[in-house]
Amino acid sequence: MPLMVDRITPTPKPPPAADVVVIGGGIVGVCAALFAARRGHSVALVEKGVIGGEQSSRNWGWVRQQNRDIAEIPMAQHSLRMWEELQAETNEDLGFRRKGLVYVTRSQADVALWENWAQVAKPFGVQTRMLSAKETQEMSPGSALPWVGGVHSPTDGRAEPRLACPALARLAMRHGAAIVENCAARGLEMQGGRVSGVVTEMGTIRTQSVICANGAWASMFLRHHGVSLPQASIRATSFRTSPVAGVTEGGISTPKFTFRRREDGGFTVGLSGRGRLEIAPQGLRYAREFWPMFKSRFDKISIRLGRSFIEGPEAWSKWSLDQVSPFERVRVLDPAPQQSLIDQALAAIVEAYPQLAGIRAVESWGGAIDWTPDGLPVIAPIAALPGFVLAAGFSGHGFGTGPASGHLAADLALGDPPIVDPTPFRHERLIDGTVAKAPGMV
Ligand SMILES: Cc1cc2nc3c(=O)[nH]c(=O)nc-3n(C[C@H](O)[C@H](O)[C@H](O)COP(=O)(O)OP(=O)(O)OC[C@H]3O[C@@H](n4cnc5c(N)ncnc54)[C@H](O)[C@@H]3O)c2cc1C
Repeated sequence: MPLMVDRITPTPKPPPAADVVVIGGGIVGVCAALFAARRGHSVALVEKGVIGGEQSSRNWGWVRQQNRDIAEIPMAQHSLRMWEELQAETNEDLGFRRKGLVYVTRSQADVALWENWAQVAKPFGVQTRMLSAKETQEMSPGSALPWVGGVHSPTDGRAEPRLACPALARLAMRHGAAIVENCAARGLEMQGGRVSGVVTEMGTIRTQSVICANGAWASMFLRHHGVSLPQASIRATSFRTSPVAGVTEGGISTPKFTFRRREDGGFTVGLSGRGRLEIAPQGLRYAREFWPMFKSRFDKISIRLGRSFIEGPEAWSKWSLDQVSPFERVRVLDPAPQQSLIDQALAAIVEAYPQLAGIRAVESWGGAIDWTPDGLPVIAPIAALPGFVLAAGFSGHGFGTGPASGHLAADLALGDPPIVDPTPFRHERLIDGTVAKAPGMV
């Protein structure tokens, strides 16, 4: 399908050397490049395809602190503030709007879960409010379903995935970063036990400091250097609708679907927790680590054998640095959307909000969500590769926290005070047996 993302005018080729090299031009890599460049360092970002071409342009655009894993709340709060500042600084519309987000449910168990979360999140000063059944109806007018309760965060909101990442890349370039598209990093050069360069398809960039923010491809990249990262891709389906009036100007999450208002008057719609898992060598390798998570979601995820076995981030690939790498073979990971899920979502929308009868999907797309077993990202130096910081595994909710995540990655790479406590995001937790739990609130 054609690219769904705004385009930048990239730097034609990488420089021979840089203080910091960023691998991957999604929201996290672009923000890392921006914050490193803003501190006066020379920065080169290499992107195998186009800026924002993968998850960062395919997501729903929710920017929230509500109902997150507690470990991520400080990062979410910094990010909300940063979205506002960045929108002003870019002087471009990132689509950032604090229009509020509402979760609604027919299950008392969900209400109890949210109540508990609201208590635990209270010390952070999160603005969130439990809704009675009556208030839930009022917050999503016209609903034909008997919601028993909900939760509302008035200061959360959305940004526009197709616009944000390229606009932030342009800002990073204004601060001096070189941003090169169609330039895959094939691997690292090491000297004296630490990183000394990044080998790309356009030549080697000498550097002492690498930030790897390459999304669903991180595990494959690390495996090439003998480092383990349990990671799994779930293929999700999303779509945007024809313009429709009513229900909400913000976002609503129901048990079957989520939608949020778009500036063109339609909604961006996703299917809550639904998706497809393709059996592939990487998945088999990390099956044990992901078992608790998949066990709790089997009813929502379909499993099949697909092209992932031989191609893409989960295939079993070997390459040498002077050869075309798997990253160059798939410039933009573009899984097909599932029509059956689109049909189900449209039916569920009309069942919940009959006044939206006639709503149509005018564009649909797929996206591969890069999960870790506990649903938290890794933003951390990798002990076996001195000079290398990983920022990946954002598990379906890293767009909203992209600014602070990129900031943290830059802090760690440059040895500056971290914007938030990085302990929950250490790499070791995924390989030393510390993590046994499935994701909680994500
Ligand atoms: C359907 C869907 C809905 C979502 N909804 C939300 C939401 O509402 N809110 C939210 O906060 N999050 C959401 N997310 C999650 C969010 O999109 C991601 O967590 C976030 O975009 C991850 O950003 P990233 O920069 O880590 O990765 P990506 O955006 O995937 O970027 C990684 C980049 O690295 C590049 N790359 C890979 N390997 C190499 C290499 N070797 N050399 C050079 N470049 C390389 C890739 O081409 C890619 O462009 C959703 C995701 C999906 C798919």
